[in-house]
Amino acid sequence: MPTFQTVRGMRDLLGKEAQTFTYIINEAQKVASLFGFKKVFTPHVESLELLSAKSGEEIRQRMFIFEDLGGRKVALRPEFTASIARLATTDLKTEPKPLKLFSLGTVYRYDEPQRGRYREFWQSNFELIGTNKPEADTEIILLTNKFIQTLNLQGYVFKIGHIGIIRGILSQEGIEEKTQNAILQRMDKKEYDLALKLVTSEKCRQTLQNLIDLKGKDWQDTLKQVNTLVSSYEMAKTATDNLLEILTLITFSCPNISLTVDPAFARGLEYYTGMIFEIYIPQLEIALGGGGRYDRLMETFGSESTPAVGCAHGIDRIAIALQTQNTVSNIGAEHNVMVIPITETVKGEALKIAQQLRERGVSVEFELMGRKMGKALEDADKRGLDYAVIVGKRELEENNIVLKDLKKREQIIIPLTELYEKIIK
Ligand code: AMP
Repeated sequence: MPTFQTVRGMRDLLGKEAQTFTYIINEAQKVASLFGFKKVFTPHVESLELLSAKSGEEIRQRMFIFEDLGGRKVALRPEFTASIARLATTDLKTEPKPLKLFSLGTVYRYDEPQRGRYREFWQSNFELIGTNKPEADTEIILLTNKFIQTLNLQGYVFKIGHIGIIRGILSQEGIEEKTQNAILQRMDKKEYDLALKLVTSEKCRQTLQNLIDLKGKDWQDTLKQVNTLVSSYEMAKTATDNLLEILTLITFSCPNISLTVDPAFARGLEYYTGMIFEIYIPQLEIALGGGGRYDRLMETFGSESTPAVGCAHGIDRIAIALQTQNTVSNIGAEHNVMVIPITETVKGEALKIAQQLRERGVSVEFELMGRKMGKALEDADKRGLDYAVIVGKRELEENNIVLKDLKKREQIIIPLTELYEKIIK
């Protein structure tokens, strides 16, 4: 018989890792409701036409594409935004704006597998559709900040840019959109020399080179310098002003936020039109999440011009970040209990006690293998549980119970009425 393994790039999530994912997902859901985003579920499989209309060349080449049995050309979603744009231009078209939609689940890209890069990975995705106001861009950054902060990650930094700065310069130089995309793709990969080779004007090349060299912690100073550099490029100047307004709002409402401005920052996805960002922790070179403004995407779907801004957080990478910073040990640290009946005759009573504890929110397992006491305690220990509640006939007759602290290896007999308090103390 063959031994089966997961397909390359796909993973099973077990034990502590599964627990960490659940924890992150729950926190993402809380952030969604804190900021008033409504959950939507969309299919994993979408038409190839829809996904191709939306995704840039980069992602198009990495999609899992197949023909279904009905001969339809379909693909596994490589991200959520295409499905959300489909919804926003069809079923939710007449809903009041802004639309604020939250999705969570797996997406698929044929990436080269390595740590933090998988072919199936989880994202929490937020889209804010119908407004071009800088406060909308700000909300997307603030919710990402809240999410990462709640997870207790330390030292994280937002890297923020504005795609309109580079595009503004390139457009004014008469460089067509296809070449602009090629330049941005190379800049995204930090292949700056290759990117600059695609630019013919010397003045333009020099301006781009200066922007590339301009990175600073002091965002106000950086933006001032950008302003001077792009003074002869009208669209780039407007983009810089827009970024200034967004950053002013962010830092005013969240003074402790840590951010750097990178004016030559380009994100992989071609549909961005405005502010773009990514988030990093010092220990990892890969981004934990990112997003930005995409004001022209809805037009590609045949809708009237509808501005939008959104972001996606990589759950797999956030799990790695938590592990790297050693934050995982606190996850799922509630008190876990195993209830063990000593004899057959007290099984019913023992189940009742388990139920009563669960009613009060204690996580309880029940000895289900009919093991003898010693073996049952050994098993509870192996599972890393905190307490064993041992239900014996003699103790029950006196309304007592045996509580064993499995970590301290201490055992006490207490009145049944005190059991809950002793466990949660
Ligand atoms: P994107 O949809 O490309 O904007 O990516 C958003 C986030 O998804 C990134 O910041 C990563 O955290 C995560 N991500 C992207 N690609 C992968 C991958 N192949 N494996 C795991 N996480 C990924």
